[in-house]
Amino acid sequence: MYKSIKGTKDILPAESARWQFVERTLRDIFHRYNYKEIRTPIFEQTSLFARSIGELTDIVGKEMYSFTDRSEESITLRPEGTASVIRSFIQNNLDQIQPLTKVFYIGPMFRQERPQAGRLRQFHQFGAEAAGSPTAETDVEIISLAVEIYRKFGLKNFQLKINSVGDEDCRPRYKELLKKELLKVADKLSPESQKRIEQNPMRVLDSKDERDKELTAGMPLITEYLNEECSVHFERVKALLSTCNIPFVVDGKLVRGLDYYTKTAFEITSTALGSQDALAGGGRYDLLVKELGGKPTPSVGFAAGIERLMMILENNHFEFPEPAPALFLAAADDDSREWIFKRANELRSQGIAVEIDLLARSLKAQMKEADRQNAEFSVVIGKTELQNGTAQLKNLRNHSQKQILLSDLEKELQ
Ligand code: AMP
Repeated sequence: MYKSIKGTKDILPAESARWQFVERTLRDIFHRYNYKEIRTPIFEQTSLFARSIGELTDIVGKEMYSFTDRSEESITLRPEGTASVIRSFIQNNLDQIQPLTKVFYIGPMFRQERPQAGRLRQFHQFGAEAAGSPTAETDVEIISLAVEIYRKFGLKNFQLKINSVGDEDCRPRYKELLKKELLKVADKLSPESQKRIEQNPMRVLDSKDERDKELTAGMPLITEYLNEECSVHFERVKALLSTCNIPFVVDGKLVRGLDYYTKTAFEITSTALGSQDALAGGGRYDLLVKELGGKPTPSVGFAAGIERLMMILENNHFEFPEPAPALFLAAADDDSREWIFKRANELRSQGIAVEIDLLARSLKAQMKEADRQNAEFSVVIGKTELQNGTAQLKNLRNHSQKQILLSDLEKELQ
């Protein structure tokens, strides 16, 4: 028997309505902020991701699903959304259409991670990017959009952490300083962190290892070494968040796993998630568009996992709307089945969701099925009903019923 690949999941018919509801809600919120959807291919040239996400990151170093296709080109299933969006932005000259491009995406991402609770190999993200503005207002629009999504779904125990990771001027200086500090305790750090000291020292601060955490506890933080420009920007972001009543904490150790961030970095976490507690992450990436061959374009964005949002909603017993047939048309005898079959199709083309029996079941079994399908109404059709042109319209939710003309079914159900 075939099984799905480790770390992948089917979204079964019983769950898909929940996904559709979540996606509808997301689209609605994106629309309110005037972000338009972009749909990029799920695979791209491998070098696009290597170049943008960074050769030394976990994603590029060990998690990408890459393969050589039949024309010997190295292809990768997208591990995240931003690189593809920016590739498309440059390729399609989106900057010429308007000075600020605001887009969102929803779709599957692929990373070969060790499968565990909250970590899948095919998972789904939604995210937004605003390309073309250096202002702190843009950072805060992106952050408030992300926060609004969780508020809209009624989440309470989530936290917004923000940091500034500096820019190409102040970050290298800070990195050197941090490197010196880390080298002093290098032999005591975890092997993973030891490897990072040279190339990616800021990631050491972000280590989950308890011993690493202790050793780096008092080390200098980037926020103390920002240059004037980054510092002013960071202060403005904080002030705007306060103005908008968005609670946050500054976490000087927040660096995020991707290389392309400059200035603002943020994460939304939830204690309801366990060890994989990140709901969403994002930040400003002023250098990425140029790095990928476009004109310098200051940009900011975020990405968030749908499975993790779903997990919380389900734990919270969120009341998802469950789609159900409006009407179950049941046959009391075999002679009425043809009439029912035709009538059901007429009603469906009038926009009414109708279910009928396709398994030649008894009336009792049909009524059971109507309940199982959670139909709102049922009508039983037999010889008498067809002769009189009337029937009982039964409300299956409150068990009331009334006599109606069969020709009035549409009217009664609308
Ligand atoms: P990242 O692109 O790594 O910053 O991830 C952004 C968000 O995507 C995270 O906060 C998670 O909610 C989600 N996410 C990332 N990796 C996975 C994964 N392997 N499985 C499920 N969700 C993930």
